[in-house]
Amino acid sequence: MQALYWDGHELSLNLSYPTLPRSKIEDRESKIVGATGSRPAFNDDRTALVKVHLAGICSTDLQIFKGYMGFRGVPGHEFVGSVVEGPRELINTRVVGEINFACGRCDYCNRRLGRHCPSRSVMGILGADGAFAEFVSVPVPNLHIVSESVSDEEAVFTEPLAAAFEILEQVQFNLGDEVLVLGDGKLGNLCAQVLRLTGASVTVLGKHEDKLKVIKRSGVRTMILSDWQPKQFDVVVEATGSPSGLQLAMTAVRPRGTLVLKTTIAGEHKVSLAPLVINEITVVGSRCGPFAPALEALEERSVLVTPLIEKVYPLSEGVEAVVRAGRPGARKILLQP
Ligand SMILES: [Zn+2]
Ligand SMILES: [Zn+2]
Repeated sequence: MQALYWDGHELSLNLSYPTLPRSKIEDRESKIVGATGSRPAFNDDRTALVKVHLAGICSTDLQIFKGYMGFRGVPGHEFVGSVVEGPRELINTRVVGEINFACGRCDYCNRRLGRHCPSRSVMGILGADGAFAEFVSVPVPNLHIVSESVSDEEAVFTEPLAAAFEILEQVQFNLGDEVLVLGDGKLGNLCAQVLRLTGASVTVLGKHEDKLKVIKRSGVRTMILSDWQPKQFDVVVEATGSPSGLQLAMTAVRPRGTLVLKTTIAGEHKVSLAPLVINEITVVGSRCGPFAPALEALEERSVLVTPLIEKVYPLSEGVEAVVRAGRPGARKILLQP
């Protein structure tokens, strides 16, 4: 199959990448050598093979190409597709998939914290091939069925939208809370739209007039960075995707307020942590989130995602697509196998 492959130095298009992970192929071959000698029917109900309809390039992918996580393999963790092999009831069903592949047996998994399973692999990020390919293998428990009323272009945003919903699992919001989202990029946009659903008063601070305009249309207050006057908020969400955002974020949280960190970067932050201690700030790291409320929001159209799309590239032009996604101010770039 066609797949984009990252070897640690270079991203390239591979025209004959194995469709199944190598361990699975060996597994199947050993089954084929079984008593009958004939190829067995697919009967593995733990993993499904999904034909990718669309995959999204996210800033985490761009960080991977700078060395984040030391990943090698097929990148890509935002996708929508349809099941071609797997449990019979799922065949031809449109699905999205949670990206943390947990062991299902450890203490974390037993406490329903599979997203933190210490022996997990993560699709396209850690030890598992991702979705910048014609097909991707996903454990069945990770799959979620996409309702017919949600288009592929919307469903491909489920994973980043779930990451925005994670904030609601971690922080209690009250009606009228003053919330600042730092960053007008894709994640900042999604976080602002999700937080607005709580009844909090949400402001997005960003650098790009055009992106702020899109955010404003979804009913969120916006402010351009050059107009910023120091002000303090109950909750600040740092979603700039750049190392410099943290400093400003720290100064914008009121004493005893909450700072939510969404940015993951390959580099290091250099900031003094003293203000966090002096102002008794609660710092919350926030990563992947629940898919169910994200799919529900897409279905109800309470969060709008398609204005975020900049361009759809064929997978064969994936290398160019990644360059485009890395341009400052780029919106969502999608890949279509
Ligand atoms: Zn992502
Ligand atoms: Zn586990």
